[in-house]
Amino acid sequence: MEKSKKILLVDDDVVLREMYAEIFQNANFEVIQASDGLEGLDVATKEIPDVIFTGIVMPRMDGFDMMEALKKTVMTANIPVVISSHMGRGEDQDRAKKLGAKDFIVRGITRPIEVIERISSIFIEAGKEYKLEFNPFALDAQELAKDLHFEASFLCLECKEKLVLNMQLKDPQSRTFDAHFVCPKCGWEAK
Ligand SMILES: [Zn+2]
Repeated sequence: MEKSKKILLVDDDVVLREMYAEIFQNANFEVIQASDGLEGLDVATKEIPDVIFTGIVMPRMDGFDMMEALKKTVMTANIPVVISSHMGRGEDQDRAKKLGAKDFIVRGITRPIEVIERISSIFIEAGKEYKLEFNPFALDAQELAKDLHFEASFLCLECKEKLVLNMQLKDPQSRTFDAHFVCPKCGWEAK
């Protein structure tokens, strides 16, 4: 099994932090916590988490100042940061983007399950390929065969093996794919 990802939760709201800690632990993350930007910076430097999920407004150092400070050290400069906001103000979103935040999550609007999905998607490598079995006689398959001038049975033109759908992940965050038909036996590809 893959090693669990370490997430650093930074927020001065302890109730909220504990809620997210439980959610992330249940999703197999190793969770560490900090109560404001300054502590977050300190913990991040010591622990080098895989991702930081931080609030914006906090005492001593806010989330944006922490992001700027993280960039100044080689060890922490490339840790992906996801902003957790309770207001979702446009100006905050702009600033988060400028500072290179990976995502901007508005609390109360984004369901916990979606928070997990969005943060997990940061670790999926773009360009990864998946081969899927394809049913040549279901839904729009026959129409597709006609449009592409394929055989109705979707067999490989070279070796007559059943073609599969090769899907390449284009953008993990929007979960969009490039798809094409390939032969799993001889490697023929529909181009
Ligand atoms: Zn083939």
